Amino acid sequence: MFTTQTGPQPADLADVRATNLAVVLRFVRAHAPCSRADIAATTGLNKATVSSLVAELLDRRLIRETGLAENRIGRPATMLVVDGAPYAAIGIEVSIDELTVVAVDLAGTELLSWRRAFDGSSASPGRAVSAIAALANRAVNRVRNQRREVLGLTVAVPGLVDPSGTVRLATTLGWRDLPLGADLRRALRDPAFEVVVENDANLAALAEYRHGPYAGTANLVHLTGGAGLGAGVVADGRLLRGGRGFAGELGHVPVVPDGPLCPCGRRGCLEVVAGVPALIRRALPDAAEDGPVTDFAPEVDRIRTKARRGDPATLDALAGIGRHLGHGAALLANLVNPEVVLLGGYFATLAQWLLPAAEAELIARTLAPEAGGARLLASALGTGAAAAGGAARTLESVDAGRLPLRPPGRSTARDPGPAARVTRKSPIRSSVSPAERDPDPTGGDAGTGGADADLTGTDAATSGPEAATAKPQPADATR
Ligand SMILES: [Zn+2]
Repeated sequence: MFTTQTGPQPADLADVRATNLAVVLRFVRAHAPCSRADIAATTGLNKATVSSLVAELLDRRLIRETGLAENRIGRPATMLVVDGAPYAAIGIEVSIDELTVVAVDLAGTELLSWRRAFDGSSASPGRAVSAIAALANRAVNRVRNQRREVLGLTVAVPGLVDPSGTVRLATTLGWRDLPLGADLRRALRDPAFEVVVENDANLAALAEYRHGPYAGTANLVHLTGGAGLGAGVVADGRLLRGGRGFAGELGHVPVVPDGPLCPCGRRGCLEVVAGVPALIRRALPDAAEDGPVTDFAPEVDRIRTKARRGDPATLDALAGIGRHLGHGAALLANLVNPEVVLLGGYFATLAQWLLPAAEAELIARTLAPEAGGARLLASALGTGAAAAGGAARTLESVDAGRLPLRPPGRSTARDPGPAARVTRKSPIRSSVSPAERDPDPTGGDAGTGGADADLTGTDAATSGPEAATAKPQPADATR
């Protein structure tokens, strides 16, 4: 855990308790269903301590019992799993052409995934804040209608974000020194849950680390594939943030001497020669005839269609972008020796045509043989990975010991417990119970701006269990 204090500190039994609660919660998340005996055997905590910690986690509705199972010596044991029902975490991804919101429950199961068109290239910062806040409000209202307590909202932005939540620079959006975190808290009327703003590539990397086929890979990179091109780097199981949190700006490494001018003011940045707008310019020279492209998805679909037909100019454009991406991946391979480099966003859907040239360039430019073992692959998370990572960030924070203060639906008179010392303030809704279905699938989101018609996506409460695909994974990437 991070601390700003220096020098010797008194031992704090409350912190020990909070740490142990988090140890048990993480164990249950990673090994569910599991028994109290399993926890004791693996964590080294004694059985009485485990019983007490489990009782507190049950009381806080962070875990629940699922019934009996035969244990190794044949006696039935009560099994434990993470309780998804009472809590939710929300992530919003801001891209130049759309906003994406994802909500998950505490078990990591997806509750909703919505997209909304957004013209980030022309929206003023004020309008952008309003649009983000409106979408956040609708998601908050939806999960509250499911009788869940919101634990946190994390907003992913393609740019430099300082620890206070101010966007120092987002070149594709034209934002400079925008106090997005503070503005959103104000727009959301100072909500009880925490509001965090974070770099989109970092959150996408966190999503890769917790979900999907490369979950748990200790050294991985996610390259965002939108208007911007950033690298989220997990090194030795931890998110690489750097001194001020500005690590991973691969998109602004110059790769073409005297190349095209980048919005950052430099020339030949990787982003300006290999970002999705550059691909569209190369593959679809007619795309900008009616003005700048503000919605990438249809253009990327056209590129994919032409590539499938084997159109030589399209394949050549994709190979050119692939070579630049391989160059960028090689810079990372030489610096941090990743096991996998995942092409995210729109790149993932074009990977079959990007990867051959990218792999050749990666190997040619990396000192270590076979690119140091780095595999260049398509992300399985698709667009919206950073939104999923935003929701995951809150779960990560809970797993690290920032436990909710009191469980919803209980007016317990007992002391909230030592772990409260490491939690945020959290007024809890009263007299609630988990809802299996949204009582108001048409929304119930009055007063939050806009009609449902402008949203696309899935909602686990109304589209069935197949929408609930996210899986809990052990992770410690942000610690
Ligand atoms: Zn640049």
